[in-house]
Amino acid sequence: MAENIKNSTGGKKINANNNASNTVRSILFTFILICFGALLIANMNQSGVQKTEVPISEVIQRANDPDGDISKITITGNTLDITLKTKDQPTETSRKDPSGTLYDQGLINHCENLEGEDLTECQKKYPTIEYKEDADVWGIVLDVLLTVLPIIALVIFFSWMMRQATAANNQSMAFGKSRAKLYGPDKKKVTFKDVAGNEAAKQDLTEIVDFLKNPKKYEKLGAKIPRGVLLAGDPGTGKTLMARAVAGEADVPFFSISGSEFAEMFVGVGASRVRDLFSKAKKNAPSIIFIDEIDAVAHKRDARGGAGREDEQTLNQILVEMDGFDNDSGVIVMAATNRVDMLDKALLRPGRFDRHVNVTLPERKDRLEILKVHFKGKPVEENVDLEALAKKTAGSSGADLANIANEAAITAAREGHKAISNKDLTEAFERVAIGPERKSKVMNEKERKITAYHEAGHALVGHVLPDSDPVHKVTIIPRGSTGGVTWFLPPEDRSYKNIYELKDILARAMGGRVAEKLIFGTDAITTGASSDLKNVAELAKSMIVEEGMGSSTRNLVFPDEATGYYTITTGKPYSEKTAEIIDSEIKKLADEATKRAEMVLKANKAVLDKLAEELLAHETLEEAELEPILKSAKLPETVKLYK
Ligand code: ADP
Ligand code: ZN
Ligand code: MG
Repeated sequence: MAENIKNSTGGKKINANNNASNTVRSILFTFILICFGALLIANMNQSGVQKTEVPISEVIQRANDPDGDISKITITGNTLDITLKTKDQPTETSRKDPSGTLYDQGLINHCENLEGEDLTECQKKYPTIEYKEDADVWGIVLDVLLTVLPIIALVIFFSWMMRQATAANNQSMAFGKSRAKLYGPDKKKVTFKDVAGNEAAKQDLTEIVDFLKNPKKYEKLGAKIPRGVLLAGDPGTGKTLMARAVAGEADVPFFSISGSEFAEMFVGVGASRVRDLFSKAKKNAPSIIFIDEIDAVAHKRDARGGAGREDEQTLNQILVEMDGFDNDSGVIVMAATNRVDMLDKALLRPGRFDRHVNVTLPERKDRLEILKVHFKGKPVEENVDLEALAKKTAGSSGADLANIANEAAITAAREGHKAISNKDLTEAFERVAIGPERKSKVMNEKERKITAYHEAGHALVGHVLPDSDPVHKVTIIPRGSTGGVTWFLPPEDRSYKNIYELKDILARAMGGRVAEKLIFGTDAITTGASSDLKNVAELAKSMIVEEGMGSSTRNLVFPDEATGYYTITTGKPYSEKTAEIIDSEIKKLADEATKRAEMVLKANKAVLDKLAEELLAHETLEEAELEPILKSAKLPETVKLYK
């Protein structure tokens, strides 16, 4: 029973298809290489000893001579392999005359039927004669394979190379080269117009565009052109889009590679890809190199777990390349990350990524602009209210908004509308924010009633408390994993919340569980409030530990195990005693919230009943419908005292 809206979906786009086929290709390639190598070695072994051919008459003569030099003759079909007394492998070969047996032709096995001493004596003088089975089938198969396979492998390899070369005009043919994508002037250009909002970031980047367009202007004045620009911001805020827009604005080639792509490379390949990427960019200067999700290779080298050696080599190569730039190289390296705190500090030093551009979550005005960008070209009904949607979507990223626009179009199409309506918008928004409506899930009457009182509890407490945001909408239609939802919307975007607002959030979150208990008694405490309770626990903890809002610990913060140092005795950055105080402060906040919710609901029981009843009847109540019901609710004096 979610209570408020958070931005949910991160904007991470993964080009799964492309990555997959790249991987398949790499695997195929290695496989072929290995086959090829193995076959070469096998072939070498086989033909390692060159045998000289000797006439059969000569062989028979030497074999029958007690002082002859042959120790063994192996006969396979028509072929004789001859081993000399001085050698331990056959060095000579001969062919039998196909007419008649060798015995007929005079090759006598002198040591036949001998045993023990006699046999050894005989073998010193005369060769051992051994008949092998007629050339075995497997030998033939192997022979054929050994000659044919390398050819097949070569053919596959070359056709693969050809395909590579033709398919991606700028993708390199050779192994170890970068597969950076090039968005040249021929590709669909992205410009700043496509990036709505984020004026500050665009302002910063306009300068970079100018460097790329008029490098001479800066060189003349002896200005150092920046080498590295780091775009930092939450997922889906448009960092990738922004980088492409810089290339589009400056009209220069854009070489982009994602940090995560390095991760799937073979050992030692990452660094050579970097080298290649930079050399290509330099050849095409002025140009932009864009390393997306750089945190994937550039996480702190000393961080727990440590970066893999491969990542480290890749990162080092990036640093080496950046250090090696001349002032007039005309290449600007851009990188994006949503984890600046995770980056290796070496990367942020002067001469490297020393320009930082923050890409932020959009404000209301910017959200409207982004929505306009994404609704452009989509048919919408005349009265469609994008402003209302922009207002509702506080905390959403650009990617979330793009997602809502797309969902709205899908919804409209599914419902057979000619244009997107306000209803489609609302549904798309709720689908993206919370998950699709579960029309099919039937709740039994008892569950519905409990849910109605639960949501009414949230709404009523939120409405009555003076520092809570106004109630926007209440529904008991289950969505995603929640049974019902109550929305509270801030009248405007705010960056900070004060302690009273936070306490009212805690109280209204407890309102659901408290209402259930009030109406159905202690026995009826349900599992429906688990996410409310979790939210309360988290918020209360952060108020005490991070914000210094504890009544006995006002203005003191308590670093968490990940960021703080440790005391030897407790393993925490504070003493056992302090830990107990923190726990009791958190409990105090939760208890106070429960108490306040209780007071509000008890004092307004009639309104609670009415609200639950209306919810059961209509399932969803909008602001306008809530207004007349909630109007008569009063703030009890006792609650005021808690301030
Ligand atoms: P990031 O790289 O920061 O994770 P992206 O650049 O990949 O985000 O953004 C994902 C998508 O979200 C973009 O392709 C675009 O459709 C949309 N988007 C994000 N920010 C904006 C914006 N400011 N204006 C227009 N569209 C945006
Ligand atoms: Zn709830
Ligand atoms: Mg991105």
